Amino acid sequence: AGVGAGAALGVVPGGVLDGAPAIRRRRVTPVCVASGNGQGAVTRAQEVLNGGGDTLDAVLEGVNLVERDPNDRSVGYGGLPNFDGVVQLDSSVMHGPTRGAGAVACLEGVKTPSLVARDVMRYTDHVLLVGRGAQDFARSLGHPIENLLTDEARQAWVEWRARLSERDDYLTPEETLYELPGFIPNLEDGDPLVDSHDGVRPQGTINCNIVDRNGDLSGVTTTSGLAWKIPGRVGDSPIVGAGLYVDNDVGAAGSTGRGEAVIKTVGSHTVVEMMRAGMSPTDACLEALRRIVAFTVEPRLLDDEGRPSFGVNYYAVNKDGEWGGASIWAGARFAVNGDGTTRLEDS
Ligand code: ASP
Repeated sequence: AGVGAGAALGVVPGGVLDGAPAIRRRRVTPVCVASGNGQGAVTRAQEVLNGGGDTLDAVLEGVNLVERDPNDRSVGYGGLPNFDGVVQLDSSVMHGPTRGAGAVACLEGVKTPSLVARDVMRYTDHVLLVGRGAQDFARSLGHPIENLLTDEARQAWVEWRARLSERDDYLTPEETLYELPGFIPNLEDGDPLVDSHDGVRPQGTINCNIVDRNGDLSGVTTTSGLAWKIPGRVGDSPIVGAGLYVDNDVGAAGSTGRGEAVIKTVGSHTVVEMMRAGMSPTDACLEALRRIVAFTVEPRLLDDEGRPSFGVNYYAVNKDGEWGGASIWAGARFAVNGDGTTRLEDS
């Protein structure tokens, strides 16, 4: 049925697209949505819009606050490192009015990978730069190259390494007579360093999407990715269509959570396509999540009841200023600023 409907779109003038946000033109109330760690980001982004700023500058200034925050362990500076103890960052941006996209993956040493992603969009003919090349590019444009591993993140990694196996040569706090330089006293189950929202591994990201009064849209996603990841692992955040998608005719969407599941279902693009077909942002997010559930067949990723044992969240705004967020599991929240106030909403 999906193919039939898709084929029909090509030959029937108007048809289901009559109701698409793309065709409506009116002033909209600017609104910004972000993941739950983005309350400060959506507030800042709206301030930038109010000051006459562009939608992409707005979301970037918003997420830069989180990227530069050493206490956010999932994004930029202070993010948890990979298997080798190295912080590797992923980010993508899309600017609706110019149809621009830029991204970086496995970028080391730059606190604000979102600004490097923006510069890939602005100053190259490419969309995605990775690893050493991304860092060389960033340095060439004057981005400071710094050590991103905070003492707290390093300590968490040292303790994780000690507990990784009972058969390796790294001693745990219980096994050594000395103080372990990575030991964090009183760390309890449920602490994000031990456990994550999905109960599997510390993860976290910020995604932020905005629509201004003209209906112009932009979005950004930025992360240190999955803690303790295999060096070189790239998540969904820097993949255009997966961790972020913006179509200025329709809307903007982004994700946080298990990146592998989002990549395999081209998640954020799916959300935008569902909005194009007429769904509300919330329903579009839910439909994209249903696809993830249907795509998850590996026993290692299922709980006792056959449900995904991980979390994924989508956040979306459309060209009319409608917004929404949804999560595989209850309990998740997201940040929204649409009427001058910032609040958290249940996904
Ligand atoms: N989506 C991110 C990744 O897979 C991590 C997260 O949001 O928790 O790299």
